[in-house]
Formats: sequence, structure tokens, C-alpha cells
Amino acid sequence: MRMVINGLISAIALSSLLASASVSQDNSNDTLFRSIYKELVEINTTESSGDTLIAANAMAKRMIDAGFPAADVQVLSSAPRKGNMVVRLRGNGAKKPMLLLAHMDVVEAKREDWAFDPFKLKESDGYFRARGALDDKAMASIFVTNLIRMRAEGLKPDRDIILALTTDEELANSPHDGARWLLENHRALIDAEFALNEGGGAKMRNGKPVSSNIQLAEKVYRSFQLEVKDPGGHSAQPRRDNAITRLAEGLVRIADYEFPARLNPVTGAYLQIITKLDAPEVRSALAALMAGDNRPEVIAPLSRRGNYNSQIRTTCVATMLEAGHAENAMAQTARATINCRLLPDENPDDVERGLKAAVKDEKIAVIPLGTIVDSPASPMSPEIIKAVEEISAELWPGIPVIPTQSGGYTDSRWLRKHGIPAYGVSGIFSEEGKSGVHGLNEQVGVKQLFEGKEYLYRLVRRLAGGG
Ligand SMILES: [Zn+2]
Repeated sequence: MRMVINGLISAIALSSLLASASVSQDNSNDTLFRSIYKELVEINTTESSGDTLIAANAMAKRMIDAGFPAADVQVLSSAPRKGNMVVRLRGNGAKKPMLLLAHMDVVEAKREDWAFDPFKLKESDGYFRARGALDDKAMASIFVTNLIRMRAEGLKPDRDIILALTTDEELANSPHDGARWLLENHRALIDAEFALNEGGGAKMRNGKPVSSNIQLAEKVYRSFQLEVKDPGGHSAQPRRDNAITRLAEGLVRIADYEFPARLNPVTGAYLQIITKLDAPEVRSALAALMAGDNRPEVIAPLSRRGNYNSQIRTTCVATMLEAGHAENAMAQTARATINCRLLPDENPDDVERGLKAAVKDEKIAVIPLGTIVDSPASPMSPEIIKAVEEISAELWPGIPVIPTQSGGYTDSRWLRKHGIPAYGVSGIFSEEGKSGVHGLNEQVGVKQLFEGKEYLYRLVRRLAGGG
């Protein structure tokens, strides 16, 4: 932007020019970003054939080359082909450090399934395309480049800014999950007052920004097995209470069962924004629930809509079935898997009790599976929300910032479990369902990626304080 008044640059305009020069994308930093992004994306970091240790070393070299003291750059590995990189930009220590988290591992991608080589960064018609182009090498490369930029600018923040690039986020419950492993083994290295991570996202529709999200909570994943044991018998002399029929009837009762609805600060704020243009019956159901009235008949307009229902209660659904040993015999065993998504502050024992009560059959055993990562919602920190809202308004005026609770999980669950509030933010807008994340031909808009880079630069600077 050029601000010339009567052929002269006024003092005010000059100072704002200088200010915008220091925060806008300067060309050399964009070039550096492209090179870091390309390098990181083109290192295969899949579980089957990739190597996050190579990626960790490459990013560590970038930090050292940029002048970070070697003592502040660590590569940590919990197993072969598993690498994490941690770097610290030192502040004046007035405040506790903040953590930037991004994972370097990516979901599998088979060359024969894709329209192009998933491990070559391809730029065409306004998009970058490759596996990891968005999830999560976009934020990883942005954090690396922005930290280099801040160091070059001589930033002395009020707190240390720690960046952790990690492995195994995409693998469910991997012991090598870098966020988890660092928290359990090297807590001091990444200990922080709060963290910024993926999971927030930003939505656009037909190329226009719709919302810039801040993720503050994730539902908690827990599966159960339902099991019926029975003597079985010849199918020519059937009994109605055979294992399969009993189980099926139990499953129907679970399908009809609703866990009690309630709101937390995140879902309350989210639903208030998202239902603004919705039917009056939805608005009044929400008002009732906010006032603490969760009677099923009152809140039915919310419960009937799947996207709202998943926000207001713990949900469970049958996902797998297994039964019988022969076509001409009644089953001796019948099993079903029930997958539940718990509200962040739900007691898992209550869910088990709820399922047993729903099943109403003592012959159907309800057995919890796996371990649970209890991850409470992050507090609605006014400092962080305000910064997100203001910087979002600078870049995308009029676009709402929406607090969200995700149905799925990210590494934020480990941070929250270990007492570090995590906030999912990215500023990288993408069309819903078109990013190819975890799927084919993953892509991110070039313009949107650079905007996200600028957004995260401004946000981290604001939250880190100092100058
Ligand atoms: Zn991810």
C-alpha cells in the first residue's frame, strides 16, 4: 500500500508504511518459506516408508543455518526413523514460554492412487499439491520460517517461543507420538503456559472466507465391546433369545439411548454463533439448554441435527459386528464394537454405566477397550481469544472467529492432558471437504497459505509480547 499525500509522504503515513513493512510478507522471507516448505513436503514422512528423523534433522539445520545457537536446537528420537525437533527463541523471561506445535509425519499416500507424485510439491492453478501440503507441513514450515524471521528482526519477546516439530501424530496412540513422548520424557524442553497447534482451521465457501476457527476442545475417544455368550445349538430348532438376536436388540436400545445434554463454555459460544441464522425452534432450544434445561422434549430441535447433537452430548454408535461360526448353527458368540465420543469433561465410568443401563440385558457384557486420553477443554483465555479476533479482523475483516470443539483429535489432547492449554489456530482457509487431507491429491491455496503464514506471524508476535 502506498500512502502519498500531495506528493509528500506524511510522517504518519511513513510510520504506518514502516510498520506495515515490518509485518507484511517481504520477498526474501517468502522465498525462504517456499524453500523450507518444499524441502519438508518432499521428505517422505509416512509410517510405512518414510522417516521423520530426516525431516527433524533438515529443519534443525535450517535453524542452525539461520543463526540459532546449537544449544537451543535439539533433535530427539525415540526410535529409528522417528524424529522430533525442538528449537527455542529466547525471550527476556518476563512470562512463561509459549509452545508452537506441528507434526511432521503424514498419512500414507500411494503413488498409483494419486494423480501425481505425492512427495513432489506441485504448484499449479493457485494451489500447492502434495501429501502434507496442508496437514501438517504447512503449519510446520510456517512456524520454522516465522521463527527465523523473528530472530532476524532481533525480536526480544517477553517469553521464550518454543517450536516443537513432532512425529507420529497420525498414528492412533503411538508410543512414539512426539507430543506425548516429549511431555513424558522431556517436559522441561517444551514446558509452556499455553500452546498453538493445528485443529482450528479456517473455512471458505466458493473461494470466500466464512470463519476463522479457534479450537479449544476435543471430544474424547473411547470404544466398547458388547459381547453375548450362548450355548448356541442347531439352527433347525431356533430359540428367540440366541446370541445374535439378543445383541441386535441391545444395539437397537443403544441407538435409541441419549446421553444427557449439556454445554461447556466452548460449545455454548460455538452454538450461539453458528445457530444465529437457524430456525427459531433451534434458537429457543439452545436458550433453554443454556439456562440448564436439558429435558429431551425441550432440546429436541438440537438433538435431531447431527452436527449440533455431537456438540451437546457424548455420543455412541455401533461400528463393527462379528458373530457366529457356521451357517447352520446358532451363534455361540456375538460381538459388536461401539465407538463413543465423550464430552471433554465426561466421566468415562458414567459412559460405561450409561451403556449398561441402555442395553438393559445382563447377558450382554459391556467391556471398555483401549486406554483413554482425558483431555479437558482449554480455558477461554481472554488474552488469546482477543489476540486471535483482532489479528483475524486485520486480515479478514468481518469474518467471525468461532470457538470449536472437534469430534476428532489432534496432539492437543496430550498437551491438555498434561496441563498445557492448547489452542488450534491456523489462518489457512480451505474449502470444506476439498483439501484432500488424509485422502487423495491433498492441496492448499497458495494465497491462503501465505495469508496463514502472515496471520501466525502476527499472532505469535502478539502473544509473545516484547519487541
Ligand atoms: Zn494433522
